[in-house]
Amino acid sequence: MTRVLITGITGQDGGYLAEQLLDEGAEVHGLVHTQDGTARALADAHPRLHLHGGDLADAEGLRALVAGVEPDELYNLGGISSVAYSWEQPVLTAQLSGVAVAVLLQAAWELQERSGRLVRCVQASSSEIFGQADRSPQDEDTPLRPVSPYGAAKAYGHSIAAAYRGKGLHAATCILFNHESPRRPVTFVTRKITAAAARIAVDGRGTVELGNLDARRDWGWAPDYVDAMVRAARHTEAADFVIATGQTHTVAEFAEAALRRAGVGDDWADHVEVNPAFLRPLDAEVMVGDPSRARRELGWTPTVDFDEVVGRMVDHDLELLREGE
Ligand code: GDP
Repeated sequence: MTRVLITGITGQDGGYLAEQLLDEGAEVHGLVHTQDGTARALADAHPRLHLHGGDLADAEGLRALVAGVEPDELYNLGGISSVAYSWEQPVLTAQLSGVAVAVLLQAAWELQERSGRLVRCVQASSSEIFGQADRSPQDEDTPLRPVSPYGAAKAYGHSIAAAYRGKGLHAATCILFNHESPRRPVTFVTRKITAAAARIAVDGRGTVELGNLDARRDWGWAPDYVDAMVRAARHTEAADFVIATGQTHTVAEFAEAALRRAGVGDDWADHVEVNPAFLRPLDAEVMVGDPSRARRELGWTPTVDFDEVVGRMVDHDLELLREGE
């Protein structure tokens, strides 16, 4: 039975990853910061799921966890996940999204040396490592030019994974572009829009206040991105893989698609307002990835297109409102 260790198991991606691996029959271990309700509900539902309380900032604890679990596969999804929050907590971001990667990889390396078994590691990298990218679309050879504490910490994690790969560890990275689902928190623009669209459709009035309507993003379906990480772990060669759809849409197009899906119709634009408070000082106009390598080497391809991502998120938010009534 494959034994896996996931950090960030209570997040959007961690939850989908745990579900995929449990369905395959794996024994899944997850690091959780607090034994919150979500984590307990997960563990209660699955006899093969084991949660371990701990902290990504605790190097000794992380080392002991990896040594104790002895995973065949290690997925590092934990850390700070918001660019905005990383400006409030730059040092903590460096610790959790940067230094912890080195701690985990060193622990995996020591386990591999001791056991003589391969420890397959996947680091969840982010398109934010490209920051103000010098080319579009971005691929695995695009220079790292982060412009936020989050991007800088992720760039360190990305680089240290390459260093351990050079040393002989199976350390792959998936450079994940925006990937969405109904489990996204409303701090992300997609879920903010779909939650608001559902509310506007039900109430028959109201608006959603947004920042940069012209920003173009490459939005995919989160479970597809999780599947790419499993493929990267099990591929013969560890490497960096851009995981993206290669298609972009503007924030305004997302809002239009969401409001129409919710049933608002042709006057959708009346329900969108620009509020400068949501503009960012530094915001890339376009972020788009070229997933050719993942397609070629991992056989990975996105299975859910833009309209369907929007549709599934809006339908979920409408359902939540109906349940709440
Ligand atoms: P990110 O790309 O990981 O930062 O994901 P977000 O979903 O937070 O932001 C995606 C894009 O939407 C960025 O270009 C934002 O500037 C833009 N955007 C426009 N209005 C908003 C808003 O009201 N909230 C957020 N979070 N982003 C917005």
